[in-house]
Amino acid sequence: MSSLTITLVRGDITEQHTDVIVNAANSSLLGGGGVDGAIHRRGGPEILEDCRKLRASQFGRGLPTGKAVATTAGKLHAQWVVHTVGPVFSREEDRSQLLASCYRESLRVAGELGARTVAFPAISTGIYGWPMDDGARIAVETVRDAQTSVEEVRFVLFDEQAYAAFAARVR
Ligand code: ADP
Repeated sequence: MSSLTITLVRGDITEQHTDVIVNAANSSLLGGGGVDGAIHRRGGPEILEDCRKLRASQFGRGLPTGKAVATTAGKLHAQWVVHTVGPVFSREEDRSQLLASCYRESLRVAGELGARTVAFPAISTGIYGWPMDDGARIAVETVRDAQTSVEEVRFVLFDEQAYAAFAARVR
């Protein structure tokens, strides 16, 4: 347990003013839809430039699922974007630990950077198909249990259903 505060906001993650904005990236790090597309659109080309450098150095084969890495935040109102790759939801295989790892690893990277405030989307609950209620449960439990120097985690939920799912877990 830590003294971390969890807040919930309904809105667009690219409009947040936080030290870190977490991107629900894919392993290519070269852009995609959903949150990823919005972050690159609003953040400008510097973010992609950093991502390409990461592909050319440490992550030649892409960023593995459950891991996290930081880049500049470009024109976003943040200092860094932390990219993490959520698991694709599967009914055959329990990938919950990988989803939890996304939150834990993102907080670890944010903490190492000295970030105090971190905005998260509901990782894997879009294109990757994770059921929202379960995604919210894993997100909130993992962040609550994290050992971190981060002071505020803000979950930024795009629609009312996502907001309600998180609100039910944070109460
Ligand atoms: P994934 O591929 O990890 O599922 P997505 O980006 O498709 O990632 O979706 C993750 C969640 O983020 C979904 O609940 C989606 O509705 C939401 N989302 C999409 N765009 C935004 C945005 N601009 N700000 C906040 N949340 C967003």
